[in-house]
Amino acid sequence: MGCGLLSACDDHGGSTAAPPSSPTPSASASLPGETDAPPDPDDPALDPALSHPVEDSVYPDVGDPSVDSLHYDLDLAWTPDTRTLEGDATIELRSTATGDHLQLDLGQPLVVSSVTLDGDDVEFQHEGKNLVVDAPVTKDERYVLEVRYSGTPQPAPAPTNRSDFNTSGWTITPDGGTWTMQEPYGAFTWYPVNDQPSDKAYYDITVTVPSPWVGIANGVMTDQTDQDGLTTTSWHLSRPASSYVVTVATGDYTRTTNTSGSGVEISYWVPSDRPGLATGLEAAADGLDWLEGLLGPYPFDSLGFLLVDSRSGMETQTMITLGATDYTTSTAVLVHEMAHQWYGDEVTPPDWRDVWMNEGMAMYLQGCWQAQADGRSVDAVMDDYAKLEKPARAQSGPPAAYDPQQFGQGNIYYGPALMWHELRKRIGDTAFWKLVRDWPARAPETNTTYDEYLDWLVDRTHVHRRFFNQWLLSPTTPPRS
Ligand SMILES: [Zn+2]
Repeated sequence: MGCGLLSACDDHGGSTAAPPSSPTPSASASLPGETDAPPDPDDPALDPALSHPVEDSVYPDVGDPSVDSLHYDLDLAWTPDTRTLEGDATIELRSTATGDHLQLDLGQPLVVSSVTLDGDDVEFQHEGKNLVVDAPVTKDERYVLEVRYSGTPQPAPAPTNRSDFNTSGWTITPDGGTWTMQEPYGAFTWYPVNDQPSDKAYYDITVTVPSPWVGIANGVMTDQTDQDGLTTTSWHLSRPASSYVVTVATGDYTRTTNTSGSGVEISYWVPSDRPGLATGLEAAADGLDWLEGLLGPYPFDSLGFLLVDSRSGMETQTMITLGATDYTTSTAVLVHEMAHQWYGDEVTPPDWRDVWMNEGMAMYLQGCWQAQADGRSVDAVMDDYAKLEKPARAQSGPPAAYDPQQFGQGNIYYGPALMWHELRKRIGDTAFWKLVRDWPARAPETNTTYDEYLDWLVDRTHVHRRFFNQWLLSPTTPPRS
């Protein structure tokens, strides 16, 4: 996520066109797998999505470690006139324990009409946001869970007092368009999910909306059909993702593209009535070249930007979701969110205590880019960061031991960014940039804990563990060199 403290939030208007005024048939979800083979949870192709789900130490009420989701096939239909979402979620999962139930998160405003497990109807309870499915399950067995549901999703209160967002999840604009940002949680506001970052899974998302609107999601659009006044788009994400980096938006959108020097085609989805927004975003191609020069090849097989009616920016995997503000569409923020594709999306902390792993490096790379763009030294940019870091740490806590009600504040950005710069000065540019490249490349699609990361850093740098612990866990800022 972009850093809210640097955000110059504006009060722009709605970003999507009015919904189609002609009478439209009620959108309805079509069955998944109508043309595809039935889901096979034992397919070894799903093995890269095997995870070690944990109970989150900061937000333990969200997610459940009994479920290891492998693949979400979400068939969604959105009717703007009635603000109704109809969903059919087919989830291939592994049970991590032998027991009598499975538990997922699903927002209370959504009404579940049926649940099947391996094709058989099963009982369920849906109290609060907990969807508990009653069925005997065996440790390490894989199952297909299908949940049908409908309703008007409501975003969840976000555990933060940031200036650029205070709710998360499915968000409805005044004209009936929709978008999502859901860090640290909130995916559950629109689909049944193990909504915790340690459980990565594959995604196929199909969205049906009244034409000429279109649904946009992560990955590559594999199909678009226009029939009976409805447009259906299908999206495939080819690498596992945590739920907080999943995105869906609906509205009247136009797509343009350009290509980075390295040959990565970048899509820009902007509201059709604001085509000029795409022009400013095209600097992403140069930004990606700059990042690849430091981090190595872009890790995924597609890249896009999706402009929505938000004030924030989010590193949703392969389809970055950006508010249409001056700050969130600045090249510095494009670089920040693209840096997250390596740091956050490819390698992901398993627990929200360690969101510093994402934001520290993204903020450091953003600072290095900014220094170059402004013709300043990185030291000078770090001086600016240091002025913001002290009060942020005092207010919100150490980066790796922050106040749970102050998620995403400056403390998780500036302190770790300063730590990386101090480390760079200690070990030199060559060793530092090799370290930065090697970390996401060494174990892609994994979640790595604080101790695993620090062990690796200490082993590689021979810098004492105390250096990292002081920057990440101390209530006061360590001295800078
Ligand atoms: Zn970020």
